[in-house]
Amino acid sequence: MNTAVIQDMLQQHKKRMKLNLAACAGCSLCAESCFLFELHDHDPRYMPSFKVLNSLGKLYRTHGRSTQEQLQGMAEIVWRTCVLCGRCYCPFGIDIPNMIALARDILRAQGSAGVYPHSIGEPDDAQGE
Ligand code: SF4
Ligand code: SF4
Repeated sequence: MNTAVIQDMLQQHKKRMKLNLAACAGCSLCAESCFLFELHDHDPRYMPSFKVLNSLGKLYRTHGRSTQEQLQGMAEIVWRTCVLCGRCYCPFGIDIPNMIALARDILRAQGSAGVYPHSIGEPDDAQGE
């Protein structure tokens, strides 16, 4: 794990991503447009805002100093609970797929990548701390 690389990638997108994260009102409207949220009986782990706040949001909150275990937990979220279909709609213009894609890029650069189709199982628990 290379914290400096994570921090550099976070820094490159900091202004826009932090604005997006701060703008999220937690209204959950985006969840209605996520077919995986619907498919999984409204499991909150499939809410688009949950996915972003517990992956990219967590990377920013910890200033890129996440543990390998935390990175793996984020990988579970961004690969297993999202397919980057781009359907999620946010009335505030927050581009959720773009944020999840950045989280994937960062994790991939740390060797935490994974191809985890959501169809092969549920994400691990305890991702929302
Ligand atoms: S991303 Fe947008 S729609 Fe989703 S919870 Fe945040 S403000 Fe609401
Ligand atoms: S991009 Fe991800 S969060 Fe958005 S609707 Fe598709 S699967 Fe759901």
